[in-house]
Amino acid sequence: MIHRESFAQVAMESMLREGVRAMNLRGGNDWLGRQADAHARRLGLSPAGVRVQDLGFRWGSCGRGDWLYFHWKTILLPRNIAEYVAVHELIHLHEPHHTPEFWRRLERAMPDYDQRKRWLALHGIEVEGV
Ligand SMILES: [Zn+2]
Repeated sequence: MIHRESFAQVAMESMLREGVRAMNLRGGNDWLGRQADAHARRLGLSPAGVRVQDLGFRWGSCGRGDWLYFHWKTILLPRNIAEYVAVHELIHLHEPHHTPEFWRRLERAMPDYDQRKRWLALHGIEVEGV
């Protein structure tokens, strides 16, 4: 049986979660969009655009027509890690798969990428708990 208070609490929590999610979709889109733009210009790449949405278990993906997709939770990561996710997806515009050439290009674009990648592998799960 669901107690009235606990039902109200669950409803409130779900509203809050949706609110945070909506804020991240708006604000996150701007910030990630600017990041992706700045790095794209620096690297001479031109993505069609950036979309922030729920990507399940993936932080980002590079889709058909050169659209970049980022999980809305990316904005909750430390900025330098979110930046890594953005640059990683940008490099996929050149190289769709994780080939040695992909990692070489990524290293040229972001020399300390490996440190950030390892941080994400180690701590990303804490963000997943949101
Ligand atoms: Zn990738």
